[in-house]
Amino acid sequence: MEILYKSTRSNSEPVKASEAILKGLAKDGGLFVPTSLPKLSLSMEELSKMNYQETAYEVMKLFLTDFTEEELKHCINSAYDSKFDVEEIAPLAEAKGVYYLELFHGATIAFKDMALSILPHLLTTSAKKNNVKNEIVILTATSGDTGKAALAGFADVPGTKIIVFYPKNGVSPIQEKQMVTQKGSNTHVVGIHGNFDDAQTGVKKLFADEALAKEMDEKGFQFSSANSINIGRLVPQVVYYVYAYTRLLANGKLSEGEKMNVVVPTGNFGNILAAYYAKNMGVPIDKLVCASNDNKVLYDFFRTGTYDRNREFILTSSPSMDILISSNLERLIYKIAGEDSAANAERMDSLSRNGSYEITEEMKKELADFRGGYATEEETFAFIKELYEDCGYVTDTHTAVAGVVCEKYRKESKDKTKTIVASTASPYKFTRSVMKAIDPKYDSMTDFELVDELCRLSGVAVPKAIEEIRTAPVLHDTVCEKDEMKAVVKKFLGME
Ligand SMILES: *Cc1c(COP(=O)(O)O)cnc(C)c1O
Repeated sequence: MEILYKSTRSNSEPVKASEAILKGLAKDGGLFVPTSLPKLSLSMEELSKMNYQETAYEVMKLFLTDFTEEELKHCINSAYDSKFDVEEIAPLAEAKGVYYLELFHGATIAFKDMALSILPHLLTTSAKKNNVKNEIVILTATSGDTGKAALAGFADVPGTKIIVFYPKNGVSPIQEKQMVTQKGSNTHVVGIHGNFDDAQTGVKKLFADEALAKEMDEKGFQFSSANSINIGRLVPQVVYYVYAYTRLLANGKLSEGEKMNVVVPTGNFGNILAAYYAKNMGVPIDKLVCASNDNKVLYDFFRTGTYDRNREFILTSSPSMDILISSNLERLIYKIAGEDSAANAERMDSLSRNGSYEITEEMKKELADFRGGYATEEETFAFIKELYEDCGYVTDTHTAVAGVVCEKYRKESKDKTKTIVASTASPYKFTRSVMKAIDPKYDSMTDFELVDELCRLSGVAVPKAIEEIRTAPVLHDTVCEKDEMKAVVKKFLGME
């Protein structure tokens, strides 16, 4: 069955998967969603005999129906290879009765690698299929992890350039070092004076700037997006929820048909939306638990049915979740509103004008399988310490937020369903916060002393991604105001 992609904000003509991947965002500002969610064509039992790459093919072919088998397999095999430091690609680790789905074994040790190692291949394949002659300019706003993962994915990919904007004071020292040391003649990294939402809003504005698009086209460029709004990011993320279930099945931890819960540390709502898609495709998932940090817009939304971003933006130790506008939530809102694009466009307009919108009682009922939870900084640190002391397993701060929410949910609900927690970053990416949580005495050490100490404590080898930046020179030092983003882009493209 052919799957097309339509905008969440108008009834414009649906486009093919490759076109949706190239465009990133629909013309009307909406997000592309599949015209229907496909069902898995194989049973969980059959899928449990497949490795990660084979599972990826079975899942992704259902969404990317205009890709040939050869094209898609080539993309998958180019992405999920020795860049990952384990053969399983996304292994499960059991700690205190919960399964941590480790999504951080790729090139930049955060879960963004799961999608961003394949996106460049999906994108260049899409460009070829659609006879695009322009050079593709990837424009990305990052709260820390997307930026590096996108840079690593696109560095020196022919026919592409990549420009990454990050909040100058809103990412961890290791995250910043990872980005500003990025090699590749087609890469540009810019710090902005502002927070992640400022960066994301600025990027969205550039995408919507028709005059700029025209000017770029004349010079042989066109934008595309590597942000989690791109359907080419979302689809690869569905894979690991299928894979997690089939691993538990293969290992006898679950019996066929038995449900599992998933807990996802959430920012832009991409990862948990992928879990929701997996559930709709037939993976026996029961509850979808959305975990937030102190920026608990989503927790409040699931509780009240009102999305309200009018609040203080709080910098936490889980910066990739410091987000007040969760872009991918729009896809869920659209779906539970009966795919009513006019109603959705109104809500999104209200969000940009007033910073809030409400959903109806009927829509709330559609959210019955979602739960929202949040963890304070104190709870997050206490969780890291306790899990380490109880079983030697060290999680990063984002995963710890989900760990806290998971514990709270299980305690309050008495729900004993087997549970996976999406483990979204290596503790090595947030070493300072993690080590401080384990013992405040570590605060006096340098970043790389902490890395070595974490290695000693956890017995987990220092990942290559960290070793590489120990001595790497800074190659990017541009910093700008949020209203200078357009000028910066034009300068990089030599358009002035
Ligand atoms: C991006 C990110 C998240 C949030 O994922 P979303 O898909 O934006 O909800 C959580 N943890 C880490 C480490 C991340 O990099």
